[in-house]
This record gives sequence, structure tokens and C-alpha cells, in this order.
Amino acid sequence: KDANAPALVVEGLTVEFGALKALDDVSLSVPAGTIMGLIGPNGAGKSTFVDAISGFLPKHGGRVSLGGQDLAGLSPTRRARLGLRRTYQQDRVPPSLTVGAYVRFVARRRIDREELAHTLEYFGCPPASARLSGVDLGTRRLVEVAANVLAKPRVLILDEPAAGLSHEEHLALAIRLRELPDRFGITLVIIEHDLDLVRSVCPRLTVLDFGRVLASGPQIDVLDDPAVIKAYMGE
Ligand code: ADP
Ligand code: MG
Repeated sequence: KDANAPALVVEGLTVEFGALKALDDVSLSVPAGTIMGLIGPNGAGKSTFVDAISGFLPKHGGRVSLGGQDLAGLSPTRRARLGLRRTYQQDRVPPSLTVGAYVRFVARRRIDREELAHTLEYFGCPPASARLSGVDLGTRRLVEVAANVLAKPRVLILDEPAAGLSHEEHLALAIRLRELPDRFGITLVIIEHDLDLVRSVCPRLTVLDFGRVLASGPQIDVLDDPAVIKAYMGE
């Protein structure tokens, strides 16, 4: 298999909420084994993008394909089974479960104790027996990432994974995320409002503004683009 083949291809993605075009003809391609940052001001359409490609907004225009397979008409569950997984901007981790029960529920595959313990430790999560009710928001976000990594997706899309994290948790998460492609064979799309995480983790960036692609390419070029600077300054 071609190592540089795209894992995820999005062509002409368009989403309308009544009169509002939340996404307008968005196209991008993420090569397998790479990390792409999707950034942009609040309201740019980042969460709408992940909702549409993960199957929660089936009425979008345009095409989405995963490893060359067209995902048109497939439910979020089918897409997840094919290897397209996402996390949510809002905390959805149920406090009633233990860490281990939650991870097994999300991953939906057999995970032996050792693999579970090892991966939780790797991500700096509490042990499997810990109750999520006693875990702070930043740590719950790490548990959510660990659970989705244990699901072994082909492509994982993280919607603002650093939201609610302390500075130390932020740095710890960045180190782990950088390693995901090589260590777990995962292609990553990281959606972030905050630029610190993408600066340290994402070699390539796509910028959304008012539902359109404002810039796309190597991080250094994109962050130096006057149009991008203007979009962030104008918030
Ligand atoms: P971001 O994640 O980049 O902050 P969103 O994708 O959440 O942006 O929102 C993009 C635009 O679409 C915003 O103007 C938002 O108010 C609007 N929007 C998002 N979801 C809905 C919805 N379900 N119905 C109507 N408008 C929506
Ligand atoms: Mg959002």
C-alpha cells in the first residue's frame, strides 16, 4: 500500500443551516500516517466539519472518502466501524462508569487487561478501576483520547482536545498526540481554536473562516499568511 495515499479525502463539502452556509465547498486531503490541524476562529465551521464527515449531518453536499471508500449514506456507527472516529468538543464522558468500563464501551473490541493498563498509563489516565465521577475535566479528556486510540481507528478526529486542560496536561497531551501515527498507526485530524497545541503537534494546517478554506499547507506558511493573521486578529 502507498504510504502517502490519502487516508481521508473531502471534496466540496457544503453544509447549510437554513440561510447560513456553515461550510462552503470545503476540500482537503489528509495523507495516511500524518497529523493535520484544522483551525479557525469561533463559528468558522470546525465542529460542523467533523459532524458532517463522521455522518451526523447526512444532508451535506460534496463527498467524503476514507481510504478510498466513499462514505455517502453511511451512518456514524458504520463510519466508526470502517475506522473513522471522532471525539466531541463538549465533555460527554459519563461520570457513572469506571475508566475501564468507559474505555471498553467506546472501543467496542476485546482489550486485555495489560493492554488497557498500559495504554491508560501511557496517556496519563487514572487506572481502569477509577470512577469517572472522581476525575477532573482535563483528565476525562485524556481518557476519551485513550479510549478512541484503543478503538484502533484509521482516522481519528479530535474536536478541541485541549479544551479544559491545564498547561501541564496540555503539554503531556501534545507529546502523546505527536506519537500516535507511528505508535498506533493512526492518521489524526486535530481541530483546535487554540494555536499552541497545533503549533507543537501539526506539521500541516488547514484554516477555516466563515465556512471556507482560507489557507492550507505547511504550518509555517499557513501561520505566516496575512489572511490567516487577519482572521485571528479580527475575532
Ligand atoms: P466552530 O466549531 O468552528 O466554532 P461551528 O461548526 O460550531 O463552528 O459553527 C459554524 C456556524 O454554524 C456557526 O455560525 C454556528 O452558529 C452555526 N451552527 C452550528 N450548528 C448549527 C445548527 N445545528 N443549527 C444552526 N446553526 C448551526
Ligand atoms: Mg467547535
